[in-house]
Amino acid sequence: MSNRPRIFSGMQPTGSGELHLGNYLGALRNWVELVDQQKYEALFAVVDSHATTVEYDPKQMPHRIFGTALSYLAAGLDPERCSVFIQSDVPEHMELAWYLGTVTAMGDLQRMTQFKEKSDQYKQNVNSGLFTYPVLMAADILVYKATVVPVGDDQVQHLELSREIARRFNARYGQVFPEPKPLLTKTPRIMGIDGKAKMSKSRGNSIDLFDDAKTVEKKLKGAFTDPAKLRLGDAGHPEICNVFTMHTALTDAALVADIDRDCRSGALGCGDCKKRLVQSLNTALDPMRERAAALRAEPARVLDVLRDGAARAREIAQATLVEVRDAMGMRAEAPPR
Ligand code: ATP
Ligand code: MG
Repeated sequence: MSNRPRIFSGMQPTGSGELHLGNYLGALRNWVELVDQQKYEALFAVVDSHATTVEYDPKQMPHRIFGTALSYLAAGLDPERCSVFIQSDVPEHMELAWYLGTVTAMGDLQRMTQFKEKSDQYKQNVNSGLFTYPVLMAADILVYKATVVPVGDDQVQHLELSREIARRFNARYGQVFPEPKPLLTKTPRIMGIDGKAKMSKSRGNSIDLFDDAKTVEKKLKGAFTDPAKLRLGDAGHPEICNVFTMHTALTDAALVADIDRDCRSGALGCGDCKKRLVQSLNTALDPMRERAAALRAEPARVLDVLRDGAARAREIAQATLVEVRDAMGMRAEAPPR
């Protein structure tokens, strides 16, 4: 264990398990940069227990977990410099979640946007796990006493609640947890290509990290842009265009400035703008596609990383739980005579 400040984050093995451009530009790319800076001790989980809050095929779950872990490594996370593991390999997350649930107000959980959205998306299965998801998320973070949590903006509300939970726990049982803060990228929310909701693994509206070049081109062709800009010559509004947002994250700054100007003047049409984005995307995704192919050919490398990562994570998590149980008085002691 080192005494550098800790960062923690995770992604769910939902959909195919493999990640999309929103996950990458909103969080994963930041993880890679933060790890390379070596300022933090970093832990990243495949949060499989969270993914059980929606219906799934248990036979597929191992493949999805593999796909999420593979995405982390293919995106460039260096497993020598951080711990990559499966949430359910560290059962201390669950134990802490129970204790934290006892200092979490029902009213706070009821306000959570993700709960409202997911209850709407999965009307047939509004289970209590979906409701207490943010409590488990607080446990994921606090079990490592992480102070920095690199996520997309849809998770900012959950982070606020994590801080509130940490405060309530500390007020009741003594100072145990630091307050974790979200860390956002400059593109914290990528919309889906249909423009209707944020890009999500579970909505079929994503450009995936390992889509081949043809698929990316096809998906982008149909992608939603600024609705006011129908033809070449129409003035556009890049600030409300998802394609432009992706450019800002992936294209050279000088070219982005040209695109901005030419979109506004009408000189650049959406078709050409998308073609340029295809180029930027392929430049960014090619190395990831290659690394993913190499890892698929040698799956044991991914499994080894997950095993080693869980061992390191567990060491920290167990130490925290000793402290938590102690603070909460979870032990037997004869009363004084
Ligand atoms: P699901 O549809 O199952 O909820 P998801 O695509 O939302 O999947 P999550 O596993 O819930 O992915 O989130 C993983 C991380 O990716 C979180 O930090 C989240 O904030 C971030 N993220 C997810 N979607 C986007 C997006 N469209 N833009 C930016 N960040 C995103
Ligand atoms: Mg999500």
